[in-house]
Amino acid sequence: ATAARKSLKIGLIPADGIGKEVIPAAREALEAVLREDCDAALFGSVSSPSRKVTGYTSPIVALRKELDLYANIRPVIAVPANPAEKPSVDMVVVRENTECLYVKQEVIINTENGREARATRLITERASKRIGKMAFEIALGRPRKQVTIIHKSNVLSITDGLFRESVRAVPKLPEVNGRYDGVKIEEQIVDSAVYRLFREPQIYDVIVAPNLYGDILSDAAAALVGSLGLVPSVNAGDKFVMGEPVHGSAPDIEGKGIANPLAAIRSAALMLRHLGYDKGADRIDNAVNEVIREGRVATPDLGGKSHTNEVVEATQSPEDLRS
Ligand code: ATP
Ligand code: MG
Repeated sequence: ATAARKSLKIGLIPADGIGKEVIPAAREALEAVLREDCDAALFGSVSSPSRKVTGYTSPIVALRKELDLYANIRPVIAVPANPAEKPSVDMVVVRENTECLYVKQEVIINTENGREARATRLITERASKRIGKMAFEIALGRPRKQVTIIHKSNVLSITDGLFRESVRAVPKLPEVNGRYDGVKIEEQIVDSAVYRLFREPQIYDVIVAPNLYGDILSDAAAALVGSLGLVPSVNAGDKFVMGEPVHGSAPDIEGKGIANPLAAIRSAALMLRHLGYDKGADRIDNAVNEVIREGRVATPDLGGKSHTNEVVEATQSPEDLRS
């Protein structure tokens, strides 16, 4: 990561649902490692309206668009019982955040044979190259330096074909100047990628995928590490970064004080890492990993009986955060 800037302003957007419970928790972790002085934001969760509201657009979707947060970066790591061991799952899913089927251009037409629904799937060279670049950049900072491109170009040869070709072209771009020459490129057809994800997750390092495949793959990967309450993400663009736990607003547990705050806390760390504050990020991640490893304090999603605030306290042992 690049050198840290001196002052940093972070907007906190708890929104609703358990977002209101997990973001204050992550705030404490942030305050423990830096003095707040918005270069970045931390987002909780929003529930979609239960009834159809005309003209409603999700605020998170609007924020991603407005701030051009074109990459959703989701690291999925299993914490081994013994810190000396290698994690059995240690991957980063880099999901394109702006196009594919999410352009939401759907139409329904009446035909002689009944209704017909169509959706537009947009893949551009520009968006595929920039997400590819993000994936190569992330791979460069990891020991294995491997990027796996996910696609279905055997069927969707034009759209997925363009995605695949554009990502493959990144290391050869003149402006890249050979920077990614040491990064190994693999590729997988999406269905076989899911199969292998469950059978041999260790084969993956950095996964780069169009929007919809990335969404599905990262939720599947979250299942491998035990709980949605553990998996962080950042929405990143070239100018702004927004941390956001992968989970939603979890209305079934809202207000009970049992939301697992670790995904939000890890999202705070990931956001710091993205801004170049590696030391602060390491301190938060180490504290979180220690709490998971010990297993003494755990919320019900992990089989424990602890409350959100007890998990927060456990992550704040003086050695870990304040040293
Ligand atoms: P949304 O519509 O906002 O996405 P959702 O109903 O899909 O909400 P999720 O937040 O995606 O709910 O959660 C799916 C399941 O995982 C729920 O049963 C929820 O209780 C559980 N869950 C999600 N996040 C957490 C968390 N941080 N701690 C504990 N359980 C969680
Ligand atoms: Mg959800």
